[in-house]
Amino acid sequence: MIKNDDAKWRHTHQQARLEEILPNGVVRCHLSPRNCTLREGQHGFCGVRMNRNGRLVTLNYGKSVHATEETIETEAVNHFSPGERILSMGNIGCMLNCAYCHNWKTSQAKYVEDKDVYHYTPEQVVDIALRHGIRMLSWTYNDPVVWHEFVRETAMLARQKGLMNLYKSAFYITPEAVEELLPLMDIFSISLKAIDEEYYRKYTTGRLQPVLDGIKQVYRAGVHLEVSNLMITDISDDEGSARKMADWVLKELDATVPLHFVRFHPDYRMRDTVRTPIPRLIRAREVALEMGVEQVYLGNVYDTPFSNTYCKDCGTLLIDRFGLNAKAEGLDEKGCCRKCGRNAHVKMRGPVGAPSFVETIPASEVLERKTFQWHGDVRSLHVQARNASAQPVKLYVRRTLSNGTAPWRVVQLSPQESFRFIIAQSMPNETGCEVLLPKDLQTNLHEVFDRAHFPTVSIEQTGIQSTDVTPLPAYR
Ligand code: SF4
Repeated sequence: MIKNDDAKWRHTHQQARLEEILPNGVVRCHLSPRNCTLREGQHGFCGVRMNRNGRLVTLNYGKSVHATEETIETEAVNHFSPGERILSMGNIGCMLNCAYCHNWKTSQAKYVEDKDVYHYTPEQVVDIALRHGIRMLSWTYNDPVVWHEFVRETAMLARQKGLMNLYKSAFYITPEAVEELLPLMDIFSISLKAIDEEYYRKYTTGRLQPVLDGIKQVYRAGVHLEVSNLMITDISDDEGSARKMADWVLKELDATVPLHFVRFHPDYRMRDTVRTPIPRLIRAREVALEMGVEQVYLGNVYDTPFSNTYCKDCGTLLIDRFGLNAKAEGLDEKGCCRKCGRNAHVKMRGPVGAPSFVETIPASEVLERKTFQWHGDVRSLHVQARNASAQPVKLYVRRTLSNGTAPWRVVQLSPQESFRFIIAQSMPNETGCEVLLPKDLQTNLHEVFDRAHFPTVSIEQTGIQSTDVTPLPAYR
């Protein structure tokens, strides 16, 4: 694997927050609990902060993977505005180095290639969201902790423009940094890897206690919180691990905080294994429900009812989910069951903005066609399109069904705009999707392996993958 120590993205920097200046030109970083102490020219563990001339600087301000439209369900958030479209913003670097990271190509700074780095200002991010009718920014993927300065500034601007902010993180972060985020975020979706100090040390290179403290800090502040747990095959997918997780949620948070058990796929340095067996995830869910957690979901699992939300009193189906899609037809505008009125603890934010659809496409438009079939566990796709022309152009995408087709979604691109969005299987009889585009539009399709995975190679580069277990590029 090529290491990119000389990549261009490293060449610019900006003053960092949470800096402590020490004698003899040394600085200490107070962003993550590593508290790296850095001499002149030294990088922190994350690879995206360093000491330059005796000051702490950030190397990744405004440097991002491609902004991507997804849905809120992508972020293990099931109790806030179901079906909400979000603009996912991932960056580069991470304060952890998990052995199974599915975004290692962007989270580990030494592997980040310039081709995968896009440059945004806070204004540009907000503008993309507004132009595409998206009401929420999601700070996600590799991990937003190490993007602190850009996240704060953009989230602040987004708030001023009426947008919401979601923070999806492994949350290895200091209390000072959490304090700076609390006033800006509407939602925290936190990945808690295990209630096991040894697990954190061995598989993530971090420590458990700061993560637990951070979650409690968010909970005390009253900001919407959901907790997810990636269950690693034969390591953290047993009943005892689920019991510890549920016990901690019940004792330190409360029974209404949604808990997600998420299926793992082999990746990065942990490929010599298999996906989490679904019966173990189902058992974990049963255990947590028996112990008293009110809403427990499975993630990265299709064709089961275990990602739906049911009323705890009358059993009515409140939110019907398939993969990353949701229909909240059983809930009223206050987040209560339409049938019996019980509070389902779902925060509603008014009607979710839907994209525009058409039944037919004008024959005059000269188009190229691309098709994709869902296969194995690959049930979603990122479509990235660049309009190189000086005119606005339209791209069309629709779902193909075993017994027909759905309407075309219309995506309008401004002159010179590059836009990326997800399309995810939404029902069992959906076989794939079809994209129609003007001849001059440059488009790439990327297979997505599980939610919050950011693919860096397209099927135009690698072909459709014969395996649906581990994405390319493979770590060597
Ligand atoms: S963010 Fe964490 S890993 Fe990076 S320099 Fe600061 S303390 Fe070190």
